[in-house]
Amino acid sequence: MSSTKSYAAQEATTPLAPWTIKRRSPKPHDVEIQILYCGVCHSDLHTARNEWRNTVYPCVPGHEIVGRVTAVGDHVKKFKAGDLAGVGCLVDSCRECDNCKEGLEQYCTNGAVGTYNGKEKDGSGITYGGYSKSIVVHEDFVLHISDKLPLEAVAPLLCAGITTYSPLRHWKIGKGHKVAVLGLGGLGHMGVKLAVSMGAEVTVLSHNTAKEEDAKRLGAAHFTLVSDIKQVIKLKGAFDLILDTVSAEHDYNFYLSLLRRDGILVCVGLPPTPAQVQVGKLVSGRRNFTGSSIGGLTETQEMLDYCAEHNIVSDVEVIAMKDINEAYERMLKGDVRYRFVIDMATL
Ligand code: NAP
Ligand code: ZN
Ligand code: ZN
Repeated sequence: MSSTKSYAAQEATTPLAPWTIKRRSPKPHDVEIQILYCGVCHSDLHTARNEWRNTVYPCVPGHEIVGRVTAVGDHVKKFKAGDLAGVGCLVDSCRECDNCKEGLEQYCTNGAVGTYNGKEKDGSGITYGGYSKSIVVHEDFVLHISDKLPLEAVAPLLCAGITTYSPLRHWKIGKGHKVAVLGLGGLGHMGVKLAVSMGAEVTVLSHNTAKEEDAKRLGAAHFTLVSDIKQVIKLKGAFDLILDTVSAEHDYNFYLSLLRRDGILVCVGLPPTPAQVQVGKLVSGRRNFTGSSIGGLTETQEMLDYCAEHNIVSDVEVIAMKDINEAYERMLKGDVRYRFVIDMATL
């Protein structure tokens, strides 16, 4: 075991503050990583503040981790000391259920283990995430990171990237498809870049008119302010797929009506409040209301390789660890362009 500096929420209502955690010594299949950068996902905020009512305290968030391997266990084949490495939202799963066998570890029927606020399968306690100096993870859950792209801008791919890549791939989005991205935040801006790279015609639906220029720069063909009812009504029946990344309560029915027949509203945003869906909106156009969770390990590596090949990274604002609480407040106000990333050298 070794002591590692971290930042933790001790309870739902207190700001994150320095805290020391213990990391296990690498077991035969473990990789020990010095964390260089960690992205700040809205899920970190939901969890730190117990908005999903399942947080175990103290809580060390962070699941967009990139760093350098410092040590490996005797049986590790895929990594060696000095390699770049990434860790996303998962650090373990059963590996035996049908979903795990298909490489869909995020849907493990026996419960995948989250990088933070997860229960270790060996009963050793709760997992602590990337707001820390180092992490020890089984090699099966460690990703290879290209040295061609800026590391701080790669970090958000480990959650925001894969969470938007996976549904676009699952529903085979490509040329000829009209895709709307609802909410231009961390996930949303990656959704735009990825959908555009796959050939889709992308519309950004946002609450913030100040984001129009950015939407176009990111590759979107169109931008619509969702409060501009006259403009939104023109979009009725327009989209094949809407990627809903909104983190707070909103009216799903309104957006369902923007789908064409057989269109898909895929929720990746996870507001803490239950959704109210009018079944008539689904029945009338045989529309689909569905969700998608991050991505499995194979697909996450595929996404990282795809991004390296297509030169796709996140737009980031690098912050010091001590500024995390202010970053959370700014994220809540939509004041981030488009992902905060913590420079772990500042911890
Ligand atoms: P974010 O950067 O804060 O972006 C969320 C965006 O939602 C904002 O930029 C804003 O876009 C819009 N929004 C915020 N408050 C709103 C409100 N009250 N009404 C309408 N729109 C609002 O967050 P993120 O990191 O992208 O995460 C988004 C959501 O996805 C969170 O709930 C997070 O927990 C969830 N998530 C899910 C998965 C998964 O596997 N499914 C993975 C990661 C994250 P505009 O300013 O453009 O309107
Ligand atoms: Zn996340
Ligand atoms: Zn499983």
